[in-house]
Amino acid sequence: MEVVEVIPVMVPMLGEEEALAAADAVRSGWVAQGPRVARFEQEFAGLVGAGHGVAVSSCTTGLHLALVLLGLGPGDEVVVPSLSFIATANVVRHVGATPVFADVDLATGNLTVETIDAVRTPRTRAVIAVHQGGVPFDTAALRKAADGWGVALVEDAACAAGSTAYGQSVGVGAAIAAWSFHPRKVITTGEGGMVTLDDADGAKRLRRLREHGMNVSAAERHASAQPVLEAYLETAFNYRMTDIQAAVGLVQLGRLAGLVAQRRELAARYHELLAGIDGLVPVRDPAHGQTNYQSFWVLLREEYPRGRDEVLAELARRGVSARRGIMASHLEPAYADVTPAALPVTERITRDSLILPLHHKLTEDDQDHIAGVLRDMARR
Ligand SMILES: *Cc1c(COP(=O)(O)O)cnc(C)c1O
Repeated sequence: MEVVEVIPVMVPMLGEEEALAAADAVRSGWVAQGPRVARFEQEFAGLVGAGHGVAVSSCTTGLHLALVLLGLGPGDEVVVPSLSFIATANVVRHVGATPVFADVDLATGNLTVETIDAVRTPRTRAVIAVHQGGVPFDTAALRKAADGWGVALVEDAACAAGSTAYGQSVGVGAAIAAWSFHPRKVITTGEGGMVTLDDADGAKRLRRLREHGMNVSAAERHASAQPVLEAYLETAFNYRMTDIQAAVGLVQLGRLAGLVAQRRELAARYHELLAGIDGLVPVRDPAHGQTNYQSFWVLLREEYPRGRDEVLAELARRGVSARRGIMASHLEPAYADVTPAALPVTERITRDSLILPLHHKLTEDDQDHIAGVLRDMARR
């Protein structure tokens, strides 16, 4: 039997520098949230051009805190794309509010003003819009519409570190944005997340909410020569990041621009290789911005003679670990009790798309092989 080495869909870029930085944090004796987290917050906020960064344990907990900050609860509706990792919808339920699924645009997989407007009601208090797979949604259009409706716009930038809209990082000018550092994203801290915003009071409240509602942080208490008696101002959470994670994150920040540039080159090469295949439509930059290609997904149109699952199986057989396209939350058992409006584009993308391998170790030979499998399958 032919021995094939499997081409993975994603490989996190972690080097000796990250290992040393984590070891330094351990040797320092300060492993919980401390000085490295504070530095990571400052550098990340500086990099994306936001006023404040508040590090948290994941993007999911960051989104949860964003909704707590907005004061959302039972009776409130939050519009979300069903076409997203399920955490986008789950956080709405974490505050007792109701997620309302909106459809997406076929080219980008993102919410639009029209798809949000179609499901908006007088009870809509917020929208969580996702820069899906790194493809920026139209920030200018959505922010303007949300302002006009009097609805808060939370930006789920989990996948989008290094993506741009209108020439700036996504998250610049956002009322509130949440980011992920899970290994499936472009930069990683193992687990981890960040909330960015310009509002200083909001940032202060988020710091309290992630740390049990305490009025002084553990780091501040430790730094004080005098005993500090803390107070717990509200019922809150433990959503802190550790200094070990932040140490890794600080190294990863230095890699971000290079990783995104490399991903964009590999994506451009995929575009060339796949251009001649009928019925296969790869994701591209939208007119208003640039994706970091966190996920390189391709849509199979009617002209493509094979079904998505058949293509995935053949890729697997030939040593390529691809993935189904982005999930649709409303089709999962956890949301079986929700009857959404018709979501034809969401259902089409989730049924007919797949995610191809894209990472810093992907070679031109790998890409040729993957494109070859897709071309072979396109021949009836
Ligand atoms: C990955 C992801 C999340 C969750 O991120 P975690 O850091 O794993 O909690 C949320 N939203 C989207 C769109 C994602 O892709």
